[in-house]
Amino acid sequence: MRRVEETEISKTIISAYHEQLSDRIVSDVLIVGAGPSGLMAAFHLARKGYKVTIFEKRLSPGGGVWGGGMAMAEAVVQDEALPLLDEVGIRHQPRREGLHTASAIELAAGLCFHALQAGAVMFNLTIVEDVCVHQGRVAGLVANRSLIAEELPIDPITFSSKAAIDATGHEAIVVAALRRRRLLPTDTTGEQFGEGPMDASAGEAFVVENVAEVFPGLWVTGMSVCAALGGPRMGPIFGGMLLSGQRVAELIAAKLSEAD
Ligand SMILES: Cc1cc2nc3c(=O)[nH]c(=O)nc-3n(C[C@H](O)[C@H](O)[C@H](O)COP(=O)(O)OP(=O)(O)OC[C@H]3O[C@@H](n4cnc5c(N)ncnc54)[C@H](O)[C@@H]3O)c2cc1C
Repeated sequence: MRRVEETEISKTIISAYHEQLSDRIVSDVLIVGAGPSGLMAAFHLARKGYKVTIFEKRLSPGGGVWGGGMAMAEAVVQDEALPLLDEVGIRHQPRREGLHTASAIELAAGLCFHALQAGAVMFNLTIVEDVCVHQGRVAGLVANRSLIAEELPIDPITFSSKAAIDATGHEAIVVAALRRRRLLPTDTTGEQFGEGPMDASAGEAFVVENVAEVFPGLWVTGMSVCAALGGPRMGPIFGGMLLSGQRVAELIAAKLSEAD
């Protein structure tokens, strides 16, 4: 094999990463959180030709998928979500009462692979900590390196977009940032509304039916819908998350094409 210089390896990493980072300072859609809903939204929007950038605070994307329920790596989905699994080639088996399972590992890896292959770009170890609001509209997001941001007083940088999606699950961090600044209503104690107690069936319907633009330019999908709007939690079932991601992609695509 041809000899390689360590310094050339380093330069290759630095130039490739920064080329991409610089290109993604402006996107059509920014997605915060690479769980099932954010990845499904990324796949559908990127496939339509939108410039989609995902931020994930952890090293590994996939959010809550990997662990299935109680660390049993089986993802449960309902009949309605099977076409979405088929679209990205994730295998599934029928089990009982309209419920099917897929390997949680195949699901997490497959969603990442297809979102990126469709053209989305992901920055992992990147934490979104704030929003940029111009003339009453979310115009971008403020992000930093994970871990560094928590330890050191280092300024973040800003990314702009036509639409942003809060897909951060239970935390709904972008919604929380708007609430901290009183740009969105809170409950009477000033807290976020937060999730309700477990009701799998109602929760699964809630995360799909209530996908919405909660503030001009900011959309919620997945568990963030429950956290932001007070819906029930649903535990280890993933069909609603996937359908919620597909729905937010459809709504944003319709809005962006109207604006063009
Ligand atoms: C610990 C745990 C608890 C769970 N609890 C419940 C529950 O109470 N009720 C329930 O119905 N289901 C629960 N689940 C099941 C299931 O995992 C989730 O419902 C499902 O994964 C939610 O999908 P999502 O796409 O909305 O978000 P998630 O799968 O949660 O993905 C969100 C992603 O956003 C990333 N993220 C968060 N903040 C930021 C930020 N500031 N910047 C960048 N990235 C960010 C996270 O690292 C994560 O990868 C839980 C799963 C786990 C692992």
